[in-house]
Amino acid sequence: GGLSAASSEAYDANAALFERAQRRIPGGVNSPVRAYRSVGGAPRFVRRAAGPYVYDAEDREYVDLVASWGPALLGHGNPSVVAAVKAAADRGLSFGAPTEGEVELAELVHDRVHRLGRSPIERLRLVSTGTEATMTAVRLARGATDRPLVVKFAGHYHGHSDGLLADAGSGVATLALPASAGVPAEIAAQTLVLPYNDEDALRLAFERHPGRIAAVITEAAAANMGVVAPLPGFNRFLVETAHANGALVILDEVLTGFRVHPGGWWALDPDGALDVDLITYGKVIGGGLPLAALGGRASVMDLLAPLGPVYQAGTLSGNPLAVAAGLATLRAADDDVYARVDAASQRVQAAVTAALTEAGVAHAISRAGNLFSVAFGVTEAPRDYDEVRAQESWRHPAFFHAMLEQGISLPPSVFEAWFLTAAHDDRALSRVEEALPSAARAAAA
Ligand code: PLP
Repeated sequence: GGLSAASSEAYDANAALFERAQRRIPGGVNSPVRAYRSVGGAPRFVRRAAGPYVYDAEDREYVDLVASWGPALLGHGNPSVVAAVKAAADRGLSFGAPTEGEVELAELVHDRVHRLGRSPIERLRLVSTGTEATMTAVRLARGATDRPLVVKFAGHYHGHSDGLLADAGSGVATLALPASAGVPAEIAAQTLVLPYNDEDALRLAFERHPGRIAAVITEAAAANMGVVAPLPGFNRFLVETAHANGALVILDEVLTGFRVHPGGWWALDPDGALDVDLITYGKVIGGGLPLAALGGRASVMDLLAPLGPVYQAGTLSGNPLAVAAGLATLRAADDDVYARVDAASQRVQAAVTAALTEAGVAHAISRAGNLFSVAFGVTEAPRDYDEVRAQESWRHPAFFHAMLEQGISLPPSVFEAWFLTAAHDDRALSRVEEALPSAARAAAA
């Protein structure tokens, strides 16, 4: 075990590493939100992680509520997952040839994602990142419909491919960027960005662009602008409207898939079994290794090369170590795991509300299944990106640092969900509960 977190931001091994990193790595990080830009200070460099804990460069222990931004559903270093990866490594690292594990994973996803005997995942293709999964799904939708435009929702994040960065969530929201430089206007113009949970806006988009919209892409439940669940009926309306107009629906479950339910949000959605065309997965499906996937209706998926004219490929696609980690993770993720994640999430939510209420900080807990985030200075959970941005996000840095100093690692952005794992036991959760009151007072200041 490590020492508990020091209560000062003293110059330490993390700060030293961050200085060194910034000399050779842009911003010192390999993914922007890790840099702590919106909360300030030096990011903790993680040396190791186990169960619900991460350990920084000083070997200080933190209760981790980031979970690698989602993949660590079972907690860090789950023994069955690590054993599966080691065994796979002993058999070779990468072959560039099909493997039995890929077939098992495609079968497993088909079987797990079902409702009343129907699975929307008739075919599955493995890729290495969620970005590739959504990028390929969009190309496939365009190939299937021979139409150019894609509808996305403001505040939704679908990875960093050119066409999907407009008004994106996650790091783009954290850094308050409208979009990314380097995306030609011609490409940006192929994406129509609509307010989330707004049926009229969607109807109008189809009226204005008849026969031109290839697909609507939506996070199954939005969780990259903080958590914003679809309003009852919205996902169903979206599917019906898209299909009535000859467009496909891409349900992005990179974050929600296999986290909120054994079958992902698709199996949990209160609107019932949505008739979506494609679903994208990432994060949990790879159990912490680079693996993601797109799946869906055979008639669409079979348009992919080598069967069809839509090209997609990858040197490391279906990498045997990543597949082994994914298979082991999904096999271990039984009903008991989801019950534990759900219970841990509810316990933390209750503690957050109690602490903030006691400190007099108006707030709303915004939930979608076991995912949640905290919106400061509002009384109702936000329904779209405008409402998300209207909150008192300036309260988050003080809250974040007060938690960090007490050994709790929260997402370093108010625009991100909090992630629990099945490894968050009573010791870890009690520490979160003990840290919250003073952090809530810091947020009140
Ligand atoms: N889609 C969603 C909903 C996500 O949450 C993410 C990542 O946060 C992505 C796509 C992109 O996945 P990746 O970071 O693996 O490229």
